[in-house]
Amino acid sequence: MYGLKSDLVCDLPSKHFSVEDYSKGVARWCPGCGDHAVLNNTQKLLKEKQLDPAKTVFVSGIGCSSRFPHYMDTYGFHGLHGRAFPVACGVKFRRPDLDVFVITGDGDCCSIGAGAWIHAIRYNMNMTVMLLNNEIYGLTKKQISPTSRIGTVSNTTPEGSIIPPINPIQTTLGVSNASFVAQTADWNPAHMYETIKAGFEHKGFSFIHVIQRCPIFQLSLGKELATNKDVMHYMEHEDGITVSEDIAKTFKHKLSHDPTDLSAARKLAMDTDKVFMGLFYRDENAPRYDEYGASNLGYTIEQKEAVLDAEFDKHAI
Ligand code: SF4
Repeated sequence: MYGLKSDLVCDLPSKHFSVEDYSKGVARWCPGCGDHAVLNNTQKLLKEKQLDPAKTVFVSGIGCSSRFPHYMDTYGFHGLHGRAFPVACGVKFRRPDLDVFVITGDGDCCSIGAGAWIHAIRYNMNMTVMLLNNEIYGLTKKQISPTSRIGTVSNTTPEGSIIPPINPIQTTLGVSNASFVAQTADWNPAHMYETIKAGFEHKGFSFIHVIQRCPIFQLSLGKELATNKDVMHYMEHEDGITVSEDIAKTFKHKLSHDPTDLSAARKLAMDTDKVFMGLFYRDENAPRYDEYGASNLGYTIEQKEAVLDAEFDKHAI
């Protein structure tokens, strides 16, 4: 027919997914909340990559941002506080064919989930992690979080917090086997999109720190960060995260940073007077625990059963 050879195969995708295919419900975050921008950019990325919703999983813990899976028409797990990482690691280990995303907040990740966070970095399983950091507990209405800066006035610190905050970038870069660490901000959607895309394309644990505005409980901090052009610094490098020239021009300050240089990345992360946007560090050769699981060590089912039987026999009475 039409002059085509009968054995010619045209391999078209069975369905083209639109943004609507990844969207579900109406996001119940406050108007102006930075979470909306993260949701929009993530859905946009899934469309660009044409990820199958039936093979995509969003895992979260507890907090405002952790409502994220409710708004994705994919598989999702809105779980226990601080336990997004163990769930995501379990999913990825047993189902390496799935695309796994983790959405966590500053309280969820850096407080109750800190132990799980550290070990998930080290295990370096292939997943895209977004820490939406607004430096406050929003869901429970204004208590300081582990990332709240000194002087933050809240319901638990009416005179202002006095303990120096956890720096999520510095912490992640300090863990052995960290393989991808980047930073972006909710008010720069073009930069955020490229950052999420780079994180998704990295084969390993991609840690993306998103500076997220909470206009309800951190209004002045968000305004200051989003409008003070002296604070934001765009990290440029041919192997980094690149935005269009028009977007790059909006940054008053730029610096060249080689994302293979871990020492330089750690030094930048310690400079809390500035906010560095882009890729701090990437190591494409870091070992991945999900690969170890995916290969199942090369054993057949029978061989695994034989090993288990041998172990059980040791305890026979
Ligand atoms: Fe967003 Fe803050 Fe509202 Fe929570 S309280 S939904 S973080 S604006």
